[in-house]
Amino acid sequence: MIVEMRTGAAPEEINGVVERARSLELGTQLNVGTHKTVIALLGNNTGQIATEIFAVLPGVESVTRIMKPYKLSAREFKPENTVVSIGGVEIGGRRIVVMAGPCAVESEAQLMETARMVKEAGASVLRGGAYKPRTSPFSFQGLKKAGLELLDRARKLYGIPVITEVVDTQDIISVSKYSDILQVGSRNMQNFTLLTSLGQRKCPVVLKRGFACTITEWLTAADYLLAEGNENVILCERGIRTFEDSTRFSLDILSIPVIKKYSHLPVIVDPSHASGHYSLVPSLAKAAVAAGADGLLIEVHPNPKEALVDGVQSLTPENFACLMQELRPVAESVGRYI
Ligand code: PEP
Ligand code: MN
Repeated sequence: MIVEMRTGAAPEEINGVVERARSLELGTQLNVGTHKTVIALLGNNTGQIATEIFAVLPGVESVTRIMKPYKLSAREFKPENTVVSIGGVEIGGRRIVVMAGPCAVESEAQLMETARMVKEAGASVLRGGAYKPRTSPFSFQGLKKAGLELLDRARKLYGIPVITEVVDTQDIISVSKYSDILQVGSRNMQNFTLLTSLGQRKCPVVLKRGFACTITEWLTAADYLLAEGNENVILCERGIRTFEDSTRFSLDILSIPVIKKYSHLPVIVDPSHASGHYSLVPSLAKAAVAAGADGLLIEVHPNPKEALVDGVQSLTPENFACLMQELRPVAESVGRYI
């Protein structure tokens, strides 16, 4: 249930709603907007509570039930767009934020060379996997702690924030020490223990869409982070599994305007894992920007043929620089810039 307070409602009036909710054993979350405060009433028994109980309280403008399973990521709770700020980089504003780098951190030389080149081409976040969730236990699993240390060195050397995946609650503290944004991979989108811990840590999180999950399930998963008070949530569409097998996954381009319609959270797109082939990445990246994505997550490797992971879908730094140029007019055509 969503309680919208009147413009200029007094703190006592807001408190009155919170207290009434508490007496009914409901949790609350406040969205203190510039004009109005919106209060979400949370709990598994909100369906049994009459809206009139809150509608008559002083300072209340309206009370609405949200029929969708997600509440805190819903626009009804927060009508204005969320902008996540990471070391001077804003995700969800007018600028399209490009995150680029290798699928996996492999060596110091590989990471530093990529960092230098993607930054030069205009990327504002460096990506690199240290803990790799692999389909086979016999595939390269990442450099783990040594990979994190290299990411830390790269961000200091090039003055660029980094994003890396966390797969286990036990690693959250160490990963958040070395990385500015923590990525929850597609396979972990519904790992609710991981999401709750990341919510408590309040660090910026990129929540990738589970490749077999609906948009509703994705937003409901985001609620696990928001419910713990972590507002730094960025969604990432990375392709879903369909009957189509000529590409690795099918990019759900429609998810971008759908997310924009129903949620206030920023959404970025990963064209690399969606397509599975470097030659298809530019078209998807441009389509994503045209459809309203707030950013891109792109795999770039200085020598894709030698890459330990996902070389086929990785752009060379030269191809990446070329794509960045091609993206500029697309961004401008939708009132954004790169
Ligand atoms: C990745 O970005 O490195 C990755 C493993 O992606 P996904 O979780 O989308 O498969
Ligand atoms: Mn990859």
